[in-house]
Amino acid sequence: MKKSVVNRFKKMFESQKHNLLFNDRILREDFVVNSEDRLDELDQASTDAEQSMRMRLRNREILYLKKVDEALERIEEGTFGLCENCEEDIEARRLEVRPTATLCIACKEDEERQEVLTAVGRQHKSLGETFSRRWT
Ligand SMILES: [Zn+2]
Repeated sequence: MKKSVVNRFKKMFESQKHNLLFNDRILREDFVVNSEDRLDELDQASTDAEQSMRMRLRNREILYLKKVDEALERIEEGTFGLCENCEEDIEARRLEVRPTATLCIACKEDEERQEVLTAVGRQHKSLGETFSRRWT
C-alpha cells in the first residue's frame, strides 16, 4: 500500500479517535448535570431511558474506538491493509467502505459462511455492519 494512502487513513483514524474521546467528555458532563438536577418521577424515567440509550451508543463507540486503535497499531507495524488470514492486500475499494477491515473480501466471505451456521454469529455480524456504516 502506498505511503500517501496509508497516511490518509492514519489521519482519518486519528480524527475519528479524537471525536470519540471528545464525545466522551460531553456525555460525562451531561451525566453530572442530570444527577444534580432535582427531577420529578416522569423526568427521572425519561432521563433513565435517555441515559440507557446513550450507554448503549457509548458501548458501540468504545468497540469502534478499539478497532480504530488496532488499525492505528497496524499502520505503525506496517501491516495495515493486509489481510490477517491470507496476508494479501485488502482491496482498496473495501477499505474505503470499511477502513477497519482486517480481512480481504475472499476471506471475509469465507468467515461469513461460517457465521451463517449459527444464529448468534449472524446477529453479531448485523449489529457490527450497522454500526460501521455510521462512520463511512
Ligand atoms: Zn484474505
